[in-house]
Amino acid sequence: AKREGFSTIPNVKWEDVGGLDSLRKEFDRYIVSRIKNPEDYEEFGVDLETGFLLYGPPGCGKTLIAKAVANEAGANFIHIKGPELLNKYVGESELAVRTIFSRARTCSPCILFFDEVNDRFLRGLLLFCGTVDALATKRGTEGGWVVERLLNQLLIELDGADQRRGVYVIGATNRPKVMDEAVLRPGRFGKHLYVPLPGPNERGLILKALARKKPISPDVDLISIGRKKACENLSGADLAAVLNEAAMAALEEKQSLGEGSFDMKAWTINEAHFDLAMEKIS
Ligand code: ATP
Repeated sequence: AKREGFSTIPNVKWEDVGGLDSLRKEFDRYIVSRIKNPEDYEEFGVDLETGFLLYGPPGCGKTLIAKAVANEAGANFIHIKGPELLNKYVGESELAVRTIFSRARTCSPCILFFDEVNDRFLRGLLLFCGTVDALATKRGTEGGWVVERLLNQLLIELDGADQRRGVYVIGATNRPKVMDEAVLRPGRFGKHLYVPLPGPNERGLILKALARKKPISPDVDLISIGRKKACENLSGADLAAVLNEAAMAALEEKQSLGEGSFDMKAWTINEAHFDLAMEKIS
């Protein structure tokens, strides 16, 4: 799986993730430490969940966390987008699920990340089945037969926790309520973790994490920018857009001034660039 490019160790580190400390602690306990010290867990016979569901609003770091966990644990990472599993040929979707789990086993320790596990995934299924009923009923109806088969195969693989030693499964969704309950049971996507919209302090921490490799002026206080009213209700992805706009404003200003007598290398992103960016984003 590694050779064919299906799995890699992601380069996202915990320093790249702003806030979300409690989730980091959970994953350290449930995945990272288990991968790093398997003998300890065996010795004490500790049996913990291997399937996780991250849920919460879009752009708040679900994918980022999953990658950082893999990086921290030195585990391979396979990213599956729900709709990729769809195939109009009978049996092919089940085969796709089997192949994915078998790939994960060949490169364990491995984190199998199912993105858009419901939402767009189910909407994709809906489009595919060509009937609204397929979404409403998901399983057990004529229109939902593809969903039924695909879910059943997924359940078979998820239930084989004993055979998938070293394979951890993380699902991400914006709408856990429309997920099939069978998938959410312990032993499957059994541990549910909420990834919330960041609060005032977390927004500053996210800006700091995002700005690590950017030339920010030393007098810019990212924590107080995060607390500004203009940042209320912004997600991590929105904050990334703010930072990007601020960087763009700095770049344009630098370009408009041209080569001058001042030191062009020392050009940085300052408070005024952030103000411009927030005006634009809001
Ligand atoms: P979706 O539900 O839409 O798939 P998501 O919750 O998986 O979204 P991510 O893809 O992890 O969100 O985040 C999108 C981008 O937003 C990241 O690449 C990063 O730039 C930024 N981001 C979000 N949350 C954080 C965070 N806590 N720390 C740093 N950056 C963040």
